[in-house]
Amino acid sequence: MNNSKSAHIFCVANQKGGVGKTTTAINLAAALAMSRKKVLLIDLDPQGNATMGSGIDKNTVDQNLYQVLIGEASIAKARVRSEAGKYDVLPANRELSGAEIDLIQMDQREQQLKLAIDQIAHEYDFVLIDCPPTLSLLTLNGLASANGVIVPMQCEYFALEGLSDLVNTIKRVHHNINPQLQLIGLLRVMFDTRVTLQQQVSAQIENHFGDKVYKTIIPRNVRLAEAPSHGLPGVIYDRNSRGAKAYVEFGNELMKQVKKSTLLEQARPPR
Ligand code: ATP
Ligand code: MG
Repeated sequence: MNNSKSAHIFCVANQKGGVGKTTTAINLAAALAMSRKKVLLIDLDPQGNATMGSGIDKNTVDQNLYQVLIGEASIAKARVRSEAGKYDVLPANRELSGAEIDLIQMDQREQQLKLAIDQIAHEYDFVLIDCPPTLSLLTLNGLASANGVIVPMQCEYFALEGLSDLVNTIKRVHHNINPQLQLIGLLRVMFDTRVTLQQQVSAQIENHFGDKVYKTIIPRNVRLAEAPSHGLPGVIYDRNSRGAKAYVEFGNELMKQVKKSTLLEQARPPR
Protein backbone atom coordinates (compact mmCIF):
# COMPACT_ATOMS: atom_id res chain seq x y z
CA MET A 1 0.00 0.00 0.00
CA ASN A 2 1.07 3.61 -0.55
CA ASN A 3 2.83 5.94 1.83
CA SER A 4 0.89 8.80 3.35
CA LYS A 5 2.18 11.42 0.89
CA SER A 6 0.24 10.04 -2.03
CA ALA A 7 -3.29 8.76 -2.42
CA HIS A 8 -4.42 5.27 -1.61
CA ILE A 9 -5.73 4.03 -4.92
CA PHE A 10 -8.37 1.32 -4.73
CA CYS A 11 -10.39 -0.46 -7.40
CA VAL A 12 -13.89 -1.60 -6.56
CA ALA A 13 -14.10 -4.67 -8.75
CA ASN A 14 -16.02 -7.86 -9.41
CA GLN A 15 -16.60 -9.15 -12.91
CA LYS A 16 -20.10 -10.23 -11.91
CA GLY A 17 -22.76 -7.69 -12.85
CA GLY A 18 -25.06 -5.98 -10.39
CA VAL A 19 -23.27 -7.05 -7.21
CA GLY A 20 -23.04 -3.55 -5.69
CA LYS A 21 -19.73 -2.20 -7.04
CA THR A 22 -21.05 1.23 -7.97
CA THR A 23 -23.15 1.56 -4.82
CA THR A 24 -20.04 0.73 -2.80
CA ALA A 25 -17.80 3.13 -4.74
CA ILE A 26 -20.22 6.07 -4.44
CA ASN A 27 -21.05 5.56 -0.78
CA LEU A 28 -17.46 4.89 0.22
CA ALA A 29 -16.37 8.08 -1.59
CA ALA A 30 -19.03 10.09 0.24
CA ALA A 31 -18.34 8.43 3.61
CA LEU A 32 -14.60 9.22 3.33
CA ALA A 33 -15.41 12.78 2.27
CA MET A 34 -17.62 13.12 5.38
CA SER A 35 -14.47 12.33 7.36
CA ARG A 36 -12.76 15.25 5.58
CA LYS A 37 -10.74 13.04 3.27
CA LYS A 38 -9.99 14.31 -0.23
CA VAL A 39 -11.46 11.80 -2.63
CA LEU A 40 -11.48 11.29 -6.40
CA LEU A 41 -13.98 8.77 -7.77
CA ILE A 42 -13.07 7.48 -11.23
CA ASP A 43 -15.94 6.05 -13.25
CA LEU A 44 -14.36 3.28 -15.33
CA ASP A 45 -17.69 1.98 -16.62
CA PRO A 46 -19.28 3.21 -19.88
CA GLN A 47 -22.66 2.77 -18.13
CA GLY A 48 -21.75 5.96 -16.21
CA ASN A 49 -23.68 4.90 -13.10
CA ALA A 50 -21.10 6.23 -10.65
CA THR A 51 -21.23 9.57 -12.47
CA MET A 52 -25.04 9.83 -12.40
CA GLY A 53 -25.26 8.54 -8.82
CA SER A 54 -22.90 11.32 -7.77
CA GLY A 55 -25.35 13.90 -9.15
CA ILE A 56 -23.48 14.60 -12.39
CA ASP A 57 -25.22 14.38 -15.76
CA LYS A 58 -23.03 12.02 -17.81
CA ASN A 59 -24.46 13.34 -21.09
CA THR A 60 -23.58 17.00 -20.59
CA VAL A 61 -20.05 16.84 -19.16
CA ASP A 62 -17.43 18.56 -21.35
CA GLN A 63 -14.88 15.79 -21.09
CA ASN A 64 -14.80 12.34 -19.59
CA LEU A 65 -12.48 9.43 -18.93
CA TYR A 66 -12.41 8.57 -22.64
CA GLN A 67 -10.47 11.74 -23.53
CA VAL A 68 -8.12 11.06 -20.62
CA LEU A 69 -7.36 7.50 -21.75
CA ILE A 70 -6.60 8.50 -25.32
CA GLY A 71 -4.37 11.35 -24.13
CA GLU A 72 -6.60 14.24 -25.19
CA ALA A 73 -7.26 15.57 -21.67
CA SER A 74 -5.73 15.45 -18.22
CA ILE A 75 -7.70 14.34 -15.15
CA ALA A 76 -7.24 17.88 -13.81
CA LYS A 77 -9.22 19.19 -16.81
CA ALA A 78 -11.84 16.47 -17.04
CA ARG A 79 -12.80 16.05 -13.38
CA VAL A 80 -16.05 17.47 -12.02
CA ARG A 81 -17.07 18.21 -8.44
CA SER A 82 -19.88 16.18 -6.89
CA GLU A 83 -21.51 18.89 -4.80
CA ALA A 84 -23.79 16.22 -3.37
CA GLY A 85 -20.98 14.00 -2.14
CA LYS A 86 -18.19 16.57 -1.62
CA TYR A 87 -15.73 14.60 -3.74
CA ASP A 88 -14.36 14.88 -7.28
CA VAL A 89 -15.52 12.64 -10.11
CA LEU A 90 -13.81 11.68 -13.33
CA PRO A 91 -16.99 11.05 -15.29
CA ALA A 92 -17.79 8.39 -17.88
CA ASN A 93 -20.44 7.78 -20.50
CA ARG A 94 -21.04 5.63 -23.57
CA GLU A 95 -18.11 7.24 -25.36
CA LEU A 96 -15.82 5.25 -23.06
CA SER A 97 -16.77 1.97 -24.72
CA GLY A 98 -14.76 3.17 -27.76
CA ALA A 99 -11.64 3.37 -25.61
CA GLU A 100 -11.20 -0.42 -25.72
CA ILE A 101 -10.55 -0.22 -29.47
CA ASP A 102 -8.43 2.93 -29.37
CA LEU A 103 -6.27 1.56 -26.55
CA ILE A 104 -5.39 -1.62 -28.44
CA GLN A 105 -3.37 0.43 -30.92
CA MET A 106 -1.47 2.35 -28.24
CA ASP A 107 1.86 1.58 -26.57
CA GLN A 108 1.50 0.76 -22.88
CA ARG A 109 -2.20 0.25 -23.45
CA GLU A 110 -2.85 -1.04 -19.94
CA GLN A 111 -0.93 1.83 -18.32
CA GLN A 112 -2.83 4.85 -19.66
CA LEU A 113 -5.01 5.37 -16.58
CA LYS A 114 -2.02 5.00 -14.26
CA LEU A 115 -0.03 7.62 -16.18
CA ALA A 116 -2.95 10.05 -15.83
CA ILE A 117 -3.50 9.31 -12.12
CA ASP A 118 0.21 9.79 -11.37
CA GLN A 119 -0.19 13.48 -12.24
CA ILE A 120 -2.88 14.19 -9.65
CA ALA A 121 -2.54 11.47 -6.97
CA HIS A 122 -0.74 13.84 -4.58
CA GLU A 123 -3.88 16.00 -4.40
CA TYR A 124 -5.96 13.24 -2.83
CA ASP A 125 -6.14 10.94 0.18
CA PHE A 126 -8.11 8.34 -1.75
CA VAL A 127 -8.69 7.57 -5.41
CA LEU A 128 -11.53 5.06 -5.88
CA ILE A 129 -12.07 3.36 -9.24
CA ASP A 130 -15.50 1.93 -10.05
CA CYS A 131 -14.81 -0.96 -12.45
CA PRO A 132 -17.19 -2.33 -15.09
CA PRO A 133 -18.54 -5.91 -14.78
CA THR A 134 -15.86 -7.35 -17.08
CA LEU A 135 -12.22 -8.35 -17.01
CA SER A 136 -11.55 -6.10 -20.01
CA LEU A 137 -8.78 -3.72 -21.04
CA LEU A 138 -10.60 -0.99 -19.11
CA THR A 139 -10.58 -3.06 -15.93
CA LEU A 140 -6.94 -3.92 -16.58
CA ASN A 141 -6.17 -0.18 -16.66
CA GLY A 142 -7.89 0.11 -13.29
CA LEU A 143 -5.94 -2.80 -11.78
CA ALA A 144 -2.67 -1.48 -13.21
CA SER A 145 -3.27 1.83 -11.41
CA ALA A 146 -4.33 0.60 -7.98
CA ASN A 147 -2.65 -0.48 -4.74
CA GLY A 148 -5.65 -2.43 -3.60
CA VAL A 149 -8.82 -4.13 -4.78
CA ILE A 150 -12.03 -4.05 -2.78
CA VAL A 151 -14.43 -6.79 -3.87
CA PRO A 152 -18.09 -6.36 -3.04
CA MET A 153 -19.96 -9.64 -3.09
CA GLN A 154 -23.39 -11.01 -2.42
CA CYS A 155 -23.55 -14.09 -0.24
CA GLU A 156 -25.09 -16.32 -2.86
CA TYR A 157 -24.43 -19.86 -3.97
CA PHE A 158 -22.18 -19.09 -6.95
CA ALA A 159 -20.39 -16.13 -5.35
CA LEU A 160 -17.20 -18.03 -4.48
CA GLU A 161 -16.96 -19.68 -7.86
CA GLY A 162 -16.85 -16.35 -9.71
CA LEU A 163 -14.35 -15.03 -7.22
CA SER A 164 -11.55 -17.36 -8.25
CA ASP A 165 -11.39 -15.77 -11.74
CA LEU A 166 -10.98 -12.35 -10.17
CA VAL A 167 -8.39 -13.56 -7.65
CA ASN A 168 -6.39 -15.15 -10.49
CA THR A 169 -6.56 -11.95 -12.53
CA ILE A 170 -5.33 -9.92 -9.55
CA LYS A 171 -2.44 -12.38 -9.11
CA ARG A 172 -1.51 -12.14 -12.78
CA VAL A 173 -1.59 -8.34 -12.76
CA HIS A 174 0.47 -8.36 -9.56
CA HIS A 175 3.15 -10.50 -11.19
CA ASN A 176 3.23 -9.00 -14.66
CA ILE A 177 2.13 -5.38 -14.52
CA ASN A 178 1.71 -3.93 -11.04
CA PRO A 179 3.60 -5.43 -8.07
CA GLN A 180 1.79 -2.98 -5.72
CA LEU A 181 -1.57 -4.61 -6.34
CA GLN A 182 -3.22 -6.60 -3.54
CA LEU A 183 -6.67 -7.90 -2.78
CA ILE A 184 -7.30 -5.80 0.32
CA GLY A 185 -10.74 -7.01 1.25
CA LEU A 186 -14.04 -8.66 0.50
CA LEU A 187 -17.13 -6.68 1.42
CA ARG A 188 -20.36 -8.55 1.95
CA VAL A 189 -23.21 -6.47 0.49
CA MET A 190 -27.00 -6.64 0.02
CA PHE A 191 -27.01 -8.95 3.00
CA ASP A 192 -30.27 -10.29 4.37
CA THR A 193 -29.87 -11.90 7.80
CA ARG A 194 -33.19 -13.72 7.41
CA VAL A 195 -31.88 -15.85 4.56
CA THR A 196 -30.18 -18.96 5.94
CA LEU A 197 -28.24 -19.59 2.72
CA GLN A 198 -26.69 -16.12 2.94
CA GLN A 199 -25.56 -16.80 6.50
CA GLN A 200 -24.01 -20.09 5.38
CA VAL A 201 -22.19 -18.54 2.42
CA SER A 202 -21.06 -15.65 4.63
CA ALA A 203 -19.50 -18.12 7.09
CA GLN A 204 -17.89 -19.98 4.18
CA ILE A 205 -16.33 -16.74 2.92
CA GLU A 206 -14.93 -16.04 6.39
CA ASN A 207 -13.46 -19.55 6.60
CA HIS A 208 -11.90 -19.29 3.19
CA PHE A 209 -10.58 -15.72 3.22
CA GLY A 210 -10.06 -15.06 6.97
CA ASP A 211 -8.94 -11.52 7.74
CA LYS A 212 -9.39 -10.48 4.11
CA VAL A 213 -13.11 -10.21 4.89
CA TYR A 214 -14.31 -6.86 6.23
CA LYS A 215 -16.15 -6.98 9.55
CA THR A 216 -18.71 -4.49 8.30
CA ILE A 217 -21.60 -6.06 6.43
CA ILE A 218 -23.79 -3.90 4.17
CA PRO A 219 -27.47 -4.86 4.54
CA ARG A 220 -29.98 -4.95 1.73
CA ASN A 221 -31.63 -1.58 2.19
CA VAL A 222 -34.08 0.09 -0.17
CA ARG A 223 -32.83 3.61 0.69
CA LEU A 224 -29.47 2.75 -0.91
CA ALA A 225 -31.27 1.69 -4.09
CA GLU A 226 -33.45 4.82 -4.16
CA ALA A 227 -30.61 7.30 -3.69
CA PRO A 228 -29.13 7.29 -7.26
CA SER A 229 -32.42 8.44 -8.79
CA HIS A 230 -32.06 11.57 -6.64
CA GLY A 231 -28.43 12.04 -7.76
CA LEU A 232 -27.27 11.53 -4.18
CA PRO A 233 -25.04 8.99 -2.43
CA GLY A 234 -27.10 6.87 -0.03
CA VAL A 235 -25.11 8.11 2.95
CA ILE A 236 -26.32 11.67 2.15
CA TYR A 237 -29.83 10.82 0.91
CA ASP A 238 -30.88 9.21 4.19
CA ARG A 239 -28.05 9.27 6.66
CA ASN A 240 -30.08 7.47 9.32
CA SER A 241 -30.91 4.47 7.16
CA ARG A 242 -29.28 1.16 8.01
CA GLY A 243 -27.53 1.11 4.65
CA ALA A 244 -26.05 4.58 5.13
CA LYS A 245 -24.81 3.74 8.62
CA ALA A 246 -23.18 0.56 7.35
CA TYR A 247 -21.27 2.39 4.59
CA VAL A 248 -20.07 5.02 7.09
CA GLU A 249 -18.86 2.18 9.30
CA PHE A 250 -17.13 0.59 6.31
CA GLY A 251 -15.38 3.89 5.58
CA ASN A 252 -14.09 3.91 9.17
CA GLU A 253 -12.93 0.31 8.92
CA LEU A 254 -11.04 1.07 5.69
CA MET A 255 -9.38 4.17 7.16
CA LYS A 256 -8.18 2.08 10.12
CA GLN A 257 -6.87 -0.62 7.77
CA VAL A 258 -4.99 1.93 5.70
CA LYS A 259 -3.50 3.61 8.77
CA LYS A 260 -2.33 0.27 10.15
CA SER A 261 -0.66 -0.78 6.89
CA THR A 262 1.01 2.63 6.49
CA LEU A 263 2.46 2.37 10.00
CA LEU A 264 3.70 -1.15 9.24
CA GLU A 265 5.30 0.08 6.05
CA GLN A 266 7.06 2.96 7.80
CA ALA A 267 8.39 0.59 10.47
CA ARG A 268 9.91 -1.69 7.82
CA PRO A 269 13.58 -1.04 7.06
CA PRO A 270 14.22 0.21 3.50
CA ARG A 271 15.20 -2.46 0.98
P1 ATP B 1 -22.79 -3.32 -12.68
O1 ATP B 1 -22.09 -4.63 -12.71
O2 ATP B 1 -23.92 -3.22 -13.67
O3 ATP B 1 -21.85 -2.15 -12.74
P2 ATP B 1 -22.79 -2.98 -9.85
O4 ATP B 1 -22.00 -4.15 -9.41
O5 ATP B 1 -22.11 -1.67 -9.93
O6 ATP B 1 -23.52 -3.26 -11.23
P3 ATP B 1 -24.86 -1.62 -8.40
O7 ATP B 1 -25.25 -0.82 -9.58
O8 ATP B 1 -24.15 -0.92 -7.30
O9 ATP B 1 -24.04 -2.89 -8.85
O10 ATP B 1 -26.11 -2.35 -7.74
C1 ATP B 1 -27.01 -3.13 -8.52
C2 ATP B 1 -28.44 -2.79 -8.06
O11 ATP B 1 -28.60 -3.16 -6.69
C3 ATP B 1 -28.76 -1.31 -8.13
O12 ATP B 1 -30.09 -1.15 -8.50
C4 ATP B 1 -28.54 -0.83 -6.71
O13 ATP B 1 -29.30 0.30 -6.39
C5 ATP B 1 -28.96 -2.04 -5.90
N1 ATP B 1 -28.24 -2.15 -4.62
C6 ATP B 1 -26.90 -2.13 -4.43
N2 ATP B 1 -26.59 -2.30 -3.13
C7 ATP B 1 -27.77 -2.42 -2.47
C8 ATP B 1 -28.12 -2.64 -1.10
N3 ATP B 1 -27.20 -2.77 -0.15
N4 ATP B 1 -29.44 -2.75 -0.80
C9 ATP B 1 -30.38 -2.63 -1.77
N5 ATP B 1 -30.12 -2.43 -3.06
C10 ATP B 1 -28.83 -2.33 -3.42
MG1 MG C 1 -21.56 -0.53 -11.63
